[in-house]
Amino acid sequence: MTRNRAKDILHVLQDNFSIPRWTRSNREPFKTLIVTVLSQATTDKNAVRAFKNLSSVFPITPEALAKASVEKIENAIRVGGLYKNKSRVIKAFSRMVMKKFNGSLDFVYSLPFEKARRTLLSFPGVGPKTADVVLLFCAGKPTIPVDTHVNRVSKRLGLTPPKADYEKVRQTLEGLYEPENYLSVHLLFILLGRECCKARKTLCSTCPTNALCPSRRLME
Ligand code: SF4
Repeated sequence: MTRNRAKDILHVLQDNFSIPRWTRSNREPFKTLIVTVLSQATTDKNAVRAFKNLSSVFPITPEALAKASVEKIENAIRVGGLYKNKSRVIKAFSRMVMKKFNGSLDFVYSLPFEKARRTLLSFPGVGPKTADVVLLFCAGKPTIPVDTHVNRVSKRLGLTPPKADYEKVRQTLEGLYEPENYLSVHLLFILLGRECCKARKTLCSTCPTNALCPSRRLME
């Protein structure tokens, strides 16, 4: 049964990978949004460099970034790639937070999950993954953000249908696990994707979940 196998996979991952401590702390929603936008289509290292550069030029607040010129934001985040698009997004949603939400994203804590998610998705440049990251990491809401690793790994493990889109992957995984494990599932699937179940090369022979994976023989 898929549910039992899903549980076993989680136990194996918990035994073999450790979740970094910082991921457990509550994060500030606006900064998390900025980091998530800066992480799009680049490495973690470049996203961190872009965030540090931006922080050295502006306070990371909706007020400061709504007033900032797009060119200054572009120059600060250039290292992260797609800087023209990202700087427009950062400016636009900072303005929206100021205009419509009085400069605060505290609604992510107070609104029910679905309403908070819909509200975040109405922001310029905020897609489902970004919204789910903010809801899970900042407000502890019950959702599993599906990044490229979670998507690939869950399909190879046979936990989600091969052609499932974002929502289907998220909802299928959420149906297989308890809400208190959503954060672990998200983080451990990412670790598995980075360490063993890489996009182009799978290291099935050393993968801790290989006894539970239907793709093992196909991928070796
Ligand atoms: S056994 Fe291979 S295909 Fe399956 S999760 Fe591990 S690395 Fe990926």
